[in-house]
Amino acid sequence: MACHYCNNEAYVYLPYAARELCEKHFSKLIESRFSRSLREEGLKPHAKVLVGLSGGKDSATLLYMLKKLTSKIPLSIVAVTIDEGIANYRSKSVEAAEKLCKELDIEHVIVPFSKEVGKSLDEAMEDNPEPACGYCGVFRRYLLNKAARDLKADYVAIGHNLDDAVQTVMMNLLRNEPSRIARFFKPLSTSDDFVPRLKPLIHIPEKEIVLYALSKGLVFDDGECPYANRSIRYDVRVLLNNLEDRYPGAKFRILRSALSIVESMKFEPVKMKPCSICSMPTNNDVCMFCSMKEKLSK
Ligand code: SF4
Repeated sequence: MACHYCNNEAYVYLPYAARELCEKHFSKLIESRFSRSLREEGLKPHAKVLVGLSGGKDSATLLYMLKKLTSKIPLSIVAVTIDEGIANYRSKSVEAAEKLCKELDIEHVIVPFSKEVGKSLDEAMEDNPEPACGYCGVFRRYLLNKAARDLKADYVAIGHNLDDAVQTVMMNLLRNEPSRIARFFKPLSTSDDFVPRLKPLIHIPEKEIVLYALSKGLVFDDGECPYANRSIRYDVRVLLNNLEDRYPGAKFRILRSALSIVESMKFEPVKMKPCSICSMPTNNDVCMFCSMKEKLSK
């Protein structure tokens, strides 16, 4: 099969567009979606961008594309890897993250849970029936924001892709938490200590990120977190993949609908206050990080 735009051999078939693309035109498509998202998010030249680098395909692609962008837009980039301490999983992706940063010549900082939380995620989950992702998500968001504040970054870039975004929408519909859907796309609270987020991969399906990363020969770890299949996200992921197989383009349409709904919702951003324990921004007297850390210490 030939590419839709030229005579080169097709590298990928996009079912939602019913067309084949060669490697060159596929890369062009992915990179144009990435640049468009950054334009919409208002990335400013000369900014310092902290990239949350797990070592997986999404964040590896994000780091690579941002580095490539620096040939057109001056940016300073630092990669931060949060090491949750998950046996037989995270050490491999930390290794991949280190290797990629060396190859791309990017400063790399590793932040271990054990240092900041007092124990690894595995230790925190021993005899704990609660879902690991609840703790992990709160700790990781907090530690990335703290690292961004300490490193004086202007933005935190996160590798959420289309699948992640649509899963978040569906999960919060199931939980009847519309404000959490809105919060995924835009901040509902403000603080000088809260570093704005960039999510330039949310218009790119997960499968296409894998193909892009492979075509560029990027170093990434494709292991799956052992806690992942115990979460509601796992079930929603299976459901959405089935829907996409039957109705190609379903994920794009859900994302576009969610963005339109969020855009039409009226929010008055709430001013956050400093946590009474750690002074990081929060809507309560004590932030979620400090409350969860305290709970785990008992
Ligand atoms: Fe953390 Fe859950 Fe992701 Fe594993 S699947 S890294 S526990 S958020």
